[in-house]
Amino acid sequence: MDLQPLLSPLPDGDCLALLQGAAAPLLDWYDQNRRPLPWRLDPTPYRVWISEIMLQQTRVAAVLPYFHRFLEALPDIPSLAAADPELLLKLWEGLGYYSRARNLQACAKACMQTHGGRLPGDYRALLELPGIGPYTAGAIASIAFGLPVPAVDGNVHRVFARLLSAEGDIAAPAVKRALFDLAAQAVPSDRPGDFNQAIMDLGATVCLPNALPLCASCPLRECCQALARETRHYLPNKAAKKARRVEKKTVVLVITPQGVLLHKRPDSGLLAGLWEFLLLDGHLTAAQRGQALAEWGIPAGRARRLGQAKHIFTHVEWRMEGVALSCPPFPPPAGCRFASLKEVRQTYSLPGALRAYTDLLEELL
Ligand code: SF4
Repeated sequence: MDLQPLLSPLPDGDCLALLQGAAAPLLDWYDQNRRPLPWRLDPTPYRVWISEIMLQQTRVAAVLPYFHRFLEALPDIPSLAAADPELLLKLWEGLGYYSRARNLQACAKACMQTHGGRLPGDYRALLELPGIGPYTAGAIASIAFGLPVPAVDGNVHRVFARLLSAEGDIAAPAVKRALFDLAAQAVPSDRPGDFNQAIMDLGATVCLPNALPLCASCPLRECCQALARETRHYLPNKAAKKARRVEKKTVVLVITPQGVLLHKRPDSGLLAGLWEFLLLDGHLTAAQRGQALAEWGIPAGRARRLGQAKHIFTHVEWRMEGVALSCPPFPPPAGCRFASLKEVRQTYSLPGALRAYTDLLEELL
């Protein structure tokens, strides 16, 4: 185990001893303070898996209604494997990062083919399934199957970096590897799932990101090196991310007596397979917009500005200007169809990025 990249002032052996010694107070604290999350009430492999995938890049409060709705519609691996992909995207609508939903179904199908319709109780076998990386495999293996493996995410990086007063860049692969190796040795074999969840909860409620950690309420304040060495104000160190690419879009809601015109996005790439209003590149003048729409075969109509909206993806930011265009009936262009308000609500999945305009449909249709 090479812990040099961590840049902790402690010798390697002391790093591991500190983390192993932290397990008992951490678990005591967890027993008193664990968050009452629904997937914890009955931590079956399926429920743990669905919750962990939903929680990637997403806050707990946002996940809760989705989790209940998803489990009600698709309660197990066979139903998920056989689900209509359109229903799957509808259940995911607004949660973002839609490749997660597609990977869930690919994984369910793989489980049907290879593991008798169940998730395997083996860390390495879990890692081979679509959409399951080291963190999710560790969470399922430790929480649902009781296996002593770590579940290392941003919370663990932050909490461990502070506990060890480690100044290494936690976005650097060598630092991540060193933290994973440490976590793998620090997980107690009697309560691995609780240990991993305790760190998640500590990171979410006490050892907070982007702000001063709440050290006075922390069960690990006696051993925390960042507290002792006064480095907690700036740790963890993390290299700045690259700036996002800004893309300007003109969003056109083509309104006809047949409904609003929807276009299906390609099956790969950003928001793959979702439905959208017409999205034209750039903030277009009326003449430019008319020309672009004519190329789609859309007749001229009465235009009304709908205002601006912004949506931030991981690497891209959309700056949108909306227009409603009232048109006479016409045949839908290739890859498009007309939808009523009810169909937009119940059948077609539109990305949350367009919510500012989807919310206006009630008055437009
Ligand atoms: S004492 Fe403070 S910095 Fe250290 S682990 Fe606890 S909350 Fe984080």
